[in-house]
Amino acid sequence: MRELDADVRYLRGVGEQRARALAKLGITDLKSLISCFPRAYDDRTAMRTIASLEAGETACVRAMVAQPPTLHRVRRGLELVKVRVVDATGSLYLTFFNQAYIRDALHHGETYTFYGKAEINGTQRQMANPVFEREDAAQVTGRIVPIYPLTAGLGQSFLLRTVRQGLDDCMGALTDPLPDELRQAHNLCHIGFAYENIHFPDSFESLSIARRRFVFEELFILSLALRLVRAHRAEVTPPRCGAVDMSPFYAALPFSLTGAQSRCVEEILRDMCAARPMNRLCQGDVGSGKTMVAAAAIYFAVRNGHQAALMAPTEILAAQHHTSLAPLFDTLGIRCALLTGSMRAPQKRKLLADLAAGEIDVLIGTHALISEQVSYRALGLVVTDEQHRFGVQQRAALWQKGAHPHILVMSATPIPRTLALIIYGDLDVSVLDELPPGRQSISTYAVPTSYRPRIYAFLKKQIKDGRQGYIICPMVEENDELPDERKAVTAYAEQLSGEVFPDLHVAALHGRMKSAEKERIMRAFAGGEIDILVSTTVVEVGVDVPNATVILIENAERFGLSQLHQLRGRVGRGQHSSHCILVSDNDSPECRARLEAMCKTRDGFKLAEEDLRLRGPGDFFGARQHGLPALKVADLSCDMQLLTEATRAAEDILARDAALSKYDTLRTRIAELFAAQQGALN
Ligand code: ADP
Ligand code: MG
Repeated sequence: MRELDADVRYLRGVGEQRARALAKLGITDLKSLISCFPRAYDDRTAMRTIASLEAGETACVRAMVAQPPTLHRVRRGLELVKVRVVDATGSLYLTFFNQAYIRDALHHGETYTFYGKAEINGTQRQMANPVFEREDAAQVTGRIVPIYPLTAGLGQSFLLRTVRQGLDDCMGALTDPLPDELRQAHNLCHIGFAYENIHFPDSFESLSIARRRFVFEELFILSLALRLVRAHRAEVTPPRCGAVDMSPFYAALPFSLTGAQSRCVEEILRDMCAARPMNRLCQGDVGSGKTMVAAAAIYFAVRNGHQAALMAPTEILAAQHHTSLAPLFDTLGIRCALLTGSMRAPQKRKLLADLAAGEIDVLIGTHALISEQVSYRALGLVVTDEQHRFGVQQRAALWQKGAHPHILVMSATPIPRTLALIIYGDLDVSVLDELPPGRQSISTYAVPTSYRPRIYAFLKKQIKDGRQGYIICPMVEENDELPDERKAVTAYAEQLSGEVFPDLHVAALHGRMKSAEKERIMRAFAGGEIDILVSTTVVEVGVDVPNATVILIENAERFGLSQLHQLRGRVGRGQHSSHCILVSDNDSPECRARLEAMCKTRDGFKLAEEDLRLRGPGDFFGARQHGLPALKVADLSCDMQLLTEATRAAEDILARDAALSKYDTLRTRIAELFAAQQGALN
């Protein structure tokens, strides 16, 4: 038996190279190995006799090798191994392409199970490249076979063998985080059964029993963690706040707040005067005016003698907030600074010193704002704009610094109500359900690439009328290693400015640029010096250029609905009516449904519900948009029942033992959950 923390390198066939490849899947020890669940399963349970095989059917047959296999060199680069196998009902002709070793792997007179797709040629039954093995240790035939997530250098059969060995070796070392009585009360299987059957189910029923247990466990532990965070919040003393005259702030605004904005501000100020730190989410569709709500909260905090941090997901957005808020705060006598990654060391040192001395009231920036080296004199409020990756763990990071500021999270990502329960288990929510007056309509069209000349003509006309436009190219994630993104965007921009819009000013923007460069371009675009901005999704969230009225989205099929909605929100922000053009040649029904939904509605909530229906919630969690741990097994669109059960169970257990003092394994799991997310801070 091996312990769960045993390094994978002890396993058969795992050397340095494969260990590195495994590490890419997050697998370093036995624990992470057996926690790497299959992403799908291949049903290979269908057994047929040779005579009953139908054309095109994929199935297993048990058959004996009737003649020694023969090797044929057809031409350079093409070798065939041919072999005839038989059972009581007939003959089957097998062909293997470029796998010469198979000639010696199949023995004349012995019986194997073959799994593959049957073809019928005249009267001859054939299979090409079937998977085969001997009956005594069936792993890949005659049963349900796991399909693992792959990475370069690792094949399915290697992973399957390795997981098999790993699971056998540590089966005895598994400890169940779920207390027995809980397991029994909720009809959950034993942990050993669960691991065995999530990897190597002996039937689909066993798989579903195993899966149900993991889903429950995952949701239960997450619920517990969120509740512990909430309990902790009740214990700490918040930065003290009292009534403040807000009228100077309102007087300095160029408009009056919408009803929804005022209501939201009231809720925030009330929270900040309460006996525990605020933890509020302000959720409002793109353009609903969240920034001013944040500004009001900041004003209130600063007038109460606290400092505030305003955190944006990208440097562009941080700079934009600084540009739009600094003049406002300035007239109010509030000192506001921007912390960027491109700052020179002496400049940065000075800024941090001022901050520590309390000479800066509001600091704007990215996640760097809550990093270790930044210390505040009196941090009273943290506002995160666009919620990305700010969650339980980030709060934990703040606590580790000894700070318990009020927290306000602004989000335009509309979360379907079904998900809100778990995601916001620890948040109070305000909703901005009203757009500022005078908003213009956005017409949305989905068109094939053949429309491009017409689209370009349309863009030209808009720009001639004094407007600006975005063109979005899909990109790989900013931290992905694919080199193409920069090239795609730059090349497209060059082509446009050279051939299509020779007399317009076209510029490119992408995630690989230095932030100073990005900022310069965004500023030039906001200032009207650039007519067309060709960009990756770095402009997805929050960018505000009211004069931009057209957004053209290339390869629209590559984006999720919520993302398309975010992108569309870049236009329709000023007094001109706007247009969103979705370009795609993809005809799949799923893609059509998505683009149609975009054309039909502008309501972010409706689109999010639709997204959930079309794609499942994987993306909500997969992208870690909410600072929550990615759920491995729980599919929240269909596991709501189980979610309710798990949430109640978490409440019950905490009611009996608030510190979980009797549940060591549970405590460990929760600690791991927090620790696993530290990386998301960067
Ligand atoms: P969000 O962050 O919610 O997408 P912003 O805060 O960027 O929206 O606001 C969008 C635009 O609306 C900005 O140009 C802002 O100045 C303007 N705005 C905000 N509140 C109001 C209001 N009450 N009346 C008129 N315009 C407003
Ligand atoms: Mg915003």
